[in-house]
Amino acid sequence: MRYFEIRGPPRDAEWQWSGEYRTHRRWHLPGVECPRCGTWAGMGAYPSVDLSGVEEPMLAQVTGPTSFAEYMRLVALIRPFLPPEIPIKGGSSFGPMVGTARGKFGPISCDPPWEVVLREDAVELLKAEGLTGIIAVRMELRSRRSNMPALYELEKRPLAKLHPDCIGEWKTPPCDVCGRPEMFDLPPKRWLLRSSIPEGLDVFGNHGANPYVVSERFVEVVQRLGPADVTYQELPAE
Ligand SMILES: [Zn+2]
Repeated sequence: MRYFEIRGPPRDAEWQWSGEYRTHRRWHLPGVECPRCGTWAGMGAYPSVDLSGVEEPMLAQVTGPTSFAEYMRLVALIRPFLPPEIPIKGGSSFGPMVGTARGKFGPISCDPPWEVVLREDAVELLKAEGLTGIIAVRMELRSRRSNMPALYELEKRPLAKLHPDCIGEWKTPPCDVCGRPEMFDLPPKRWLLRSSIPEGLDVFGNHGANPYVVSERFVEVVQRLGPADVTYQELPAE
């Protein structure tokens, strides 16, 4: 199986679709003032994680980094909602995107580059073709167009790893006090660590890196629905 990173269109490309949205998420985990590794906040989004049963007003606010004790208390509230192998990072947000949309959307879009949005027919086709690992969460959007198709955000869970040789020296080691995972600058030339690729999954993310990774099958199926404002860059594995 070959794998590809989803990216936006080339800088000088003419856009095929006019769709845009303005959204926020319901729940947020602030960054942390860690006594060992310092103050930090990453980013990440888990639209499928529904925290409506957690009665904690702090999670409904967007705030700056919080004290270590408060951070650990909030992480413990969120932990049961994600599998143990998925790291919880300060600065992450949870729940579906909520807001407004206008214009027309292609089968897949990637704007901003860390969010991938699928049109309803793309989700249906991917599922009908039996692709796995597709976590598509319906966005709660208001639009003036009554016939606007539903849009879904694709969730990526950091399951694979970039190859250590492409990450190089510039990385911050993980911290076992606050649970911060290893962080590094995204290397411009990158490839996957083959042994870390989750078998059989058609969508996943990488530890410490934002771009979505999709299988060759995913690309082939979505391309059947016509042009889109995304490009696919092959991500070799070694
Ligand atoms: Zn720390």
